[in-house]
Amino acid sequence: MPRGFNIAVFEGDGIGPEIMKPTIELLKQLGTNGGDYVLNFESFPAGATHYAETGESLPQSSLQGARNADAILLSAMGLPNVRYPDGTEISPQIDLRKEFGLFAGVRPVTVYPGQYCPLKIPEGQSIDFVLIRESTEGLFWSQGKGEISENEARETLVITRETSEKLFRFAFELAKQRRASGRGKGKVTCVDKANVFRAFAFFRKIFNEEAARHPGFTAEHAYVDATALWMVQKPWSMDVMVTENMFGDILSDLGAGLMGGLGMAPSADVGDNQAVFQPCHGSAPDIAGQGLANPAAMILSAAMMLDWLGHKHEMEAVLKDGERLRAAVHAAISGRRALTRDLGGTATTDDFAKVVGSYLN
Ligand code: NAD
Repeated sequence: MPRGFNIAVFEGDGIGPEIMKPTIELLKQLGTNGGDYVLNFESFPAGATHYAETGESLPQSSLQGARNADAILLSAMGLPNVRYPDGTEISPQIDLRKEFGLFAGVRPVTVYPGQYCPLKIPEGQSIDFVLIRESTEGLFWSQGKGEISENEARETLVITRETSEKLFRFAFELAKQRRASGRGKGKVTCVDKANVFRAFAFFRKIFNEEAARHPGFTAEHAYVDATALWMVQKPWSMDVMVTENMFGDILSDLGAGLMGGLGMAPSADVGDNQAVFQPCHGSAPDIAGQGLANPAAMILSAAMMLDWLGHKHEMEAVLKDGERLRAAVHAAISGRRALTRDLGGTATTDDFAKVVGSYLN
């Protein structure tokens, strides 16, 4: 009897449904070769379009569906012209992060052979590292709480021991998984600003405590400003980098730039019990409905979902399928048979996904 996993699906806004559909088809195609597990998909309404129609952005039933699921697959959400009365945008993806305490924002930065990269990669080197952005506190803790008076504005950055311990444990575990899979160097770098701020000296101290529990790994520190420089000068030297929320927010867009754009950048937001897998990009309303969206980031996020489920439930078949799916995207990019417009080609969303599917057979 195959093990069943319930996947809560949020199709989102703009290009969201266009990239979700082929991704689910590819996940189903993977399952037809196996037999050890089965993915059951259930779609839940949420997002800007749903808000415009009903006045609700994330209904309780959708939240409950996400809570009960084994994993959450989410496309991009939000539309610039649909807003709450206070002027802010509809962003259920942020609500889910807060609701489920998804502290680890995992942002892989990988450049496949044949993939556009603004840097010249030296012979024998490759760009393949992961940024982990703490996603529940740091400077973002202050969201909606800033104090403003006539002549002054204040926002408070918060680092807690509890979340930092979980974050660093997660970072070393990821470094272990990457090294075991032959991709990682067994190195974790704490990115901070401990030379100036006490909060970051505290962050670094907790990192050092966790590092001491992993003597077989290299633990390094780097200041965030130098890290931005090195991401451009020598990104091939990096493995797992872990940082505060605001720093991670900024560095992960730099990472997307190294990959040739947002259409290639997948992500996972992981908590103690739930995890959300979604592309780094938004709903791209400028290209929605035209078949121009690159589905690679969404498909690669689905591969990360399989990695996470496979490790969590210790299921080799699920881990293998995560790798198969990633390798198929990799092959589609390298083969350059059907690249979407953002990658310099003329293929549609579905053309690209079909080529990915052809590498799964
Ligand atoms: P965006 O990421 O949607 O688009 C930025 C640019 O990248 C656009 O030119 C777009 O066409 C292009 N692009 C993005 N994804 C692409 C893809 N898969 N293939 C090809 N091109 C792609 O950012 P934005 O325009 O600032 O935001 C649009 C909406 O998305 C806003 O409402 C914003 O709040 C929301 N948003 C949501 C998320 C999320 O769901 N996690 C993240 C960022 C922005």
